[in-house]
This record gives sequence, structure tokens and C-alpha cells, in this order.
Amino acid sequence: MSLTVAIDGPAAAGKGTIARAVAAHFGFAHLDTGLLYRAVGRRTLEGISPLDAANALTSDDFADADALRLPDVAQAASQAAAMPEVRAALLDFQRAFARRMGGAVLDGRDIGTVICPDAEVKLFVTATDAVRADRRYRELVDKGQAVTLAQVAADLAERDRRDAARATAPMIAAADATLIDTSTMGIDEAVATAVAAVEMASNSSKTAPHCGRLGGENV
Ligand code: C5P
Repeated sequence: MSLTVAIDGPAAAGKGTIARAVAAHFGFAHLDTGLLYRAVGRRTLEGISPLDAANALTSDDFADADALRLPDVAQAASQAAAMPEVRAALLDFQRAFARRMGGAVLDGRDIGTVICPDAEVKLFVTATDAVRADRRYRELVDKGQAVTLAQVAADLAERDRRDAARATAPMIAAADATLIDTSTMGIDEAVATAVAAVEMASNSSKTAPHCGRLGGENV
């Protein structure tokens, strides 16, 4: 199978878990596009301008995965992500990834609307605010972070608000996206729902993919 799966939704809704599982199931490449913005955000906390950071990302910027997961990095990422020039600097890389042979899963906020509006499969993954805050709180505590549930909930609410309200590429479900509310789902059920959506799309789109394909190995 060779198609593009676009997975969008707010923070801690489960889209990363679903994206990884779908990619593993079908043997597709996976890109967590939030990491691009987090890497930019982390550099801005060191005093580098967001655009300079976006233009100069290298694999070194992704080496320390735990550092990219910190709440202040997430906030800095969301601030940088509201700048159109930062988004433009990261666009080509994401589009090239989406078009690779062998299939690709990208998760983020604007994959189905801006990065690959012709993706064969679009999912918008959500969960209630309380469920998402609780999940993110547990993740951070498991990593040894000293956070409170109230802080985590406020952090997510602020990011969601900014991500949904920005003028360029706001977080919004594509009109043709399948909505998956994971509030009361376990991981297995959420992944099975997503896998079924990909299988259905693949059966109904045996024609050439809309995005066009680039050759090349996974990055
Ligand atoms: O997905 P994650 O929570 O790691 O993303 C961090 C931030 O990066 C988001 O709050 C959002 O502002 C930004 N982002 C974005 N577009 C994407 C992916 C992430 O604006 N496609």
C-alpha cells in the first residue's frame, strides 16, 4: 500500500500513539510534525529567532527527545508555530515526507488541511479536555516532571486556544476527516478504528495517489 495518512487533533488526544501504530501496522514511514515545532521552540528558549531556528534544523535538534517534551518547550513551539514564516520554512520537508513511496503517516495540526489536503486518509483525533489533561499529566509524572494536574490542564488549554485561533494553518478538522473521539477508548480500540479507516480508503483508492510520489528511503 502506498498512501498518505493525515492525523490531526489537539494535544494529548492520542494522535501520536495512533500514528505510530498505524505506521507500524502498514509499514509506512511516520513523521511527528509537532517535533519540528518543538525543536524550533527549544532553540527560541536559547535566544535564537524562530525563523533562524526553523531554517537551521538538523538531526542534532531531535537527539534529546525528553527535552523536546518539556512543557515550556511545548509553549514556545506553539508561539513559534503561530508565525507564518516559520510554518513556511517547515512546509517543503513535510510535503516531501508525505509523498514518499511506501506510504506515510504524518500527525500534527494542519496535515489534512494545509500540508497534504489531498491525503487519501484524514483523521481528526480528539478527547475531552479533562481526559487529555489527565493523560499528559501522567506522561509527565512518569518522566519525573514536577507538575500539577491544574498546570498541565492550563498549559493544554492555552496551546489549544492559540493553535486554533492563529490566522495561518489553524488547528481544525478537514471537512473530509473522520473524527475519532478517544475519550472512552482504550489504545487498542482507537488504533483499530484508525486501521479500519486506512483499509477502507486503500480499498476505495486503488488509483494513483493525489499527492504524487517521490522515490527514496525513509528518514
Ligand atoms: O503535537 P505537539 O503537541 O508536539 O505540537 C507542539 C506544538 O507545535 C503545538 O501546540 C502546535 O502549536 C505546533 N504544531 C503545529 N502544527 C503541526 C504540529 C504542531 O502548529 N502540524
